[in-house]
Order: sequence, then C-alpha cells, then structure tokens
Amino acid sequence: MKLTAEPLELRLRHTFTIARSSSDWAHNVLVRIRHGKHEGLGEASPVSYYGQDQAGTIKTLREMGRVLAKAHPFDLERVLAELRRKYPKHPGALAAIDLALHDLIGKLLNIPLWKYWGLDAADTPRTSFTIGIDSLEKVRQKLAEAERFPVLKIKLGVPGDEEIIREVRKQCPKKTLRVDANCGWSVADSIRKAKLLEKLGVEFLEQPVPPGNPAALKRIKQSIGIPLLTDESSVVPEDVPKLLGCVDGINIKLVKCGGLRRALQMIHTARSCGLKIMIGCMIESSVMITAGAQLTPLVDYADLDGNVLISNDPFRGVKLDKAARLLLPKGPGLGVVPA
Ligand SMILES: [Mg+2]
Repeated sequence: MKLTAEPLELRLRHTFTIARSSSDWAHNVLVRIRHGKHEGLGEASPVSYYGQDQAGTIKTLREMGRVLAKAHPFDLERVLAELRRKYPKHPGALAAIDLALHDLIGKLLNIPLWKYWGLDAADTPRTSFTIGIDSLEKVRQKLAEAERFPVLKIKLGVPGDEEIIREVRKQCPKKTLRVDANCGWSVADSIRKAKLLEKLGVEFLEQPVPPGNPAALKRIKQSIGIPLLTDESSVVPEDVPKLLGCVDGINIKLVKCGGLRRALQMIHTARSCGLKIMIGCMIESSVMITAGAQLTPLVDYADLDGNVLISNDPFRGVKLDKAARLLLPKGPGLGVVPA
C-alpha cells in the first residue's frame, strides 16, 4: 500500500466560536492509501486542544506510511496496533489511516461499511446542527438559517450564556435543544444553570466542566434533572469505565479516539457500562463525517454537522433527509465520492 497525505483547507460558513476558541478555517488533512486499483480515503481534523496541528499530522502520516508499505488492507488490526504503539500521541493521524483502511476493505469486498458491520442503514438517528457562541443578533440569524434542522446543539460556556439559551428557546419553541458548555462552567455553575436548561426542556447537557475529575461529574449528575454527557472526558476507550456511575452518556469523536476501530471499542464498552452514546465531529469534510455516520445505527445521538458548516466540501457521502436523519450511502467502503 502507498500513502499520500495533503492539506485539506475547509472554509467555515460562519466564524465558529466555542468556549475556548474561534476560527474561520479548519486546517484538516486528506489521506489517500492506494492498494492495487483501489484507493482508500481518510481524513484527520487536528485538534489544537490536544496538541495536534496540520503540519505535524502530515509529517507523522508520511512516517506511518512506511509501516503500510508491505501490509495489506486486511492486516488492519495488526497495522493499527503497531502504529498505536509507535505513535501513541497521534490519534488524529491514526484515525486518518484507520478510515482509509476501512474504506479499502469495503471497496475490496464491494460492500458499504455499515453492511460489513451487520448494521441496518434504516436505524440512523437525526443529526443535530450546531449553533456556535455569538451575539444574540447573530444567533437569531443562524437559527433562521438552521430552520430545516429539528435538533440543535447550542454552544454555551461563556459569561451571560443564559441569555443565549433563553433566546434560542424563544425563537424555537418546538425544537429539540442540546447544550454543550465545552468545559466552560464550574460545578456550581453547572448545577445552577442546569435548572434553567431543565425548565427550557433541554434534552441533555454536554461536558460542563473540564475533564479529569469524574467526582465533579458525579456531583453534577446527582444534582441535575437532565442527562449529563461527556466529550472532553471521554476521549479514548480507556476513559469509559472511569465514567461509570458519574455520567449518563458519552460523545465519541473519531479524530480523538483514533478512528472507527477504536470508536467501535468505545461503543461496546459504553454499552456495557449502561451509557448512552453520541457520535460527534469536528469541522470535517464529507470523508470523516460519512465515516462517523457509518457507525450511527449503533448509537443514540448523532452530532455530525461538520460538513454542513463548511462551504467548500470537496466530497459527498452521507446525506440528510427532510428531518435531518442521516442517509447512509450505498457505495462500497465509506461510500464517499468527489463532489
Ligand atoms: Mg462537545
């Protein structure tokens, strides 16, 4: 197999702001792995919060490519284990290779990944659409643009954010609302603000406090009336058992856990712990969003809107029906083709 890695610059429709960062572009990486007449596609969406960037990811991927030179796509388990051992700090680069190998396996077998895993494409959930932090006027404009989405994920975690969620509920009295505070609150903030969220009928609260403190999550869970999910606290499969009894569910992201194989491990571990599961994303093209979507028949919630937030997606794959339910492609592997 031969690997190539190149920059993939994705332009945001709106400046995207969360509790800790703001951006107009996502500097992703596109990976192509060639095997005979087939090409597998992969992507990484490097996360600065985890010390990842585009240049470092490309450099690592090119080094990783040497391990692939003598391997076959069906060596996936061995190749990924070896790469994880050699590059434990590069889950984004690993995810890109994991995606491309899965894409190749599907193409060699000529079946889509969801079928390869024995899943029913009719079982996909609706995806939420994310509203980043902004002025009330800008939030109103974004809500108007998000009219077709019945489920919204509202980013909070900054001073005065109660005004944002009140305004969203006023503008959207019927929609399902989810709140992600991206570690922006204290335990006391979380318990106090969750009362308002409960009153406004918010479906769940995601990661209100910083990671590394399951006891804090447990105190919050025991004191609030809506489900508590983690994201920054549930990065890799090994994090999941530590959250047992402390939260109601976890958010899984391919770029953080290291790809589809690790995501499957997280899904099964979380199910064994009685947790709900969401598949989420960063700002990503249809390559990585479609990869995440392939797993969604196994989960409760999807937050796979990264490709909808950009204006220059070079690919197409998963689509949305009128109710924003994910429609999985029927093509082999990831089922992603050039736009
Ligand atoms: Mg989150």
